[in-house]
Amino acid sequence: MRKPIIAGNWKMNMNPTQTTEFVNAIKANLPKFDQTESVIGAPAVDLPALLEAAKGTDLKVAAENCYFEDAGAFTGETSPKTLNEMGVDYVIIGHSERRDYFHETDEDINKKAHAIFKNNMTPIFCCGESLETREAGKAEEWVSNQVTEGLKGLSADQVSSMVIAYEPIWAIGTGKTASADQAQEICAVVRQTVAKLYDQTVADKVRIQYGGSVKPANVKEIMGKEDIDGGLVGGASMEPASFLDLVHFND
Ligand code: PEP
Repeated sequence: MRKPIIAGNWKMNMNPTQTTEFVNAIKANLPKFDQTESVIGAPAVDLPALLEAAKGTDLKVAAENCYFEDAGAFTGETSPKTLNEMGVDYVIIGHSERRDYFHETDEDINKKAHAIFKNNMTPIFCCGESLETREAGKAEEWVSNQVTEGLKGLSADQVSSMVIAYEPIWAIGTGKTASADQAQEICAVVRQTVAKLYDQTVADKVRIQYGGSVKPANVKEIMGKEDIDGGLVGGASMEPASFLDLVHFND
């Protein structure tokens, strides 16, 4: 039985004061952590406020990025070692905005996955195709290849414990949601890819999220699909009532 995981991705949208206010508004009404995991991914500058506000609650904390080295001459980067010391649980890697605007490669993302595990955190590894790739009939092959490259060298135990977020680029922040069937189709491909690379036991354990214009109105249908264990949510995660509706998708 895979535990559902709903994660907000605030991108570069909140400040520390808003972060504290947001958590104070939701913390009493979160589902119990052992039933559904509620996660917020926030910009690095907001993490101290987020961690402080989330202390003793059922909320888990994600960074939106990190570097793959622990320390050194990497001006402006965020150390995974420091994130772990601060108490961060998850790190989102491979988001299409980072692949696109910041030119992150499969190799960079794979190195980040290793660095995150080395520092006792869990990656939320994003993959997903562009509209052009989908229209060329290559979505399955594209996503399967991203997963294969992204997981290189990770152990079966590591992959069993991680989260993979399938996010078709054409559905992110556009209001265009993949239909629940389209989302399921590629999430199944992700799981089959993990089964091929490892085995069925690992594939049965890895949690797969769908992301792309998930909102309270569609979360239940999406979460009802066999291979979808969670959502990675941008826009609809930035308002307390909407976030609570998402994490209580099965109430
Ligand atoms: C995202 O930021 O990963 C995302 C899926 O955004 P949205 O929910 O706004 O489409």
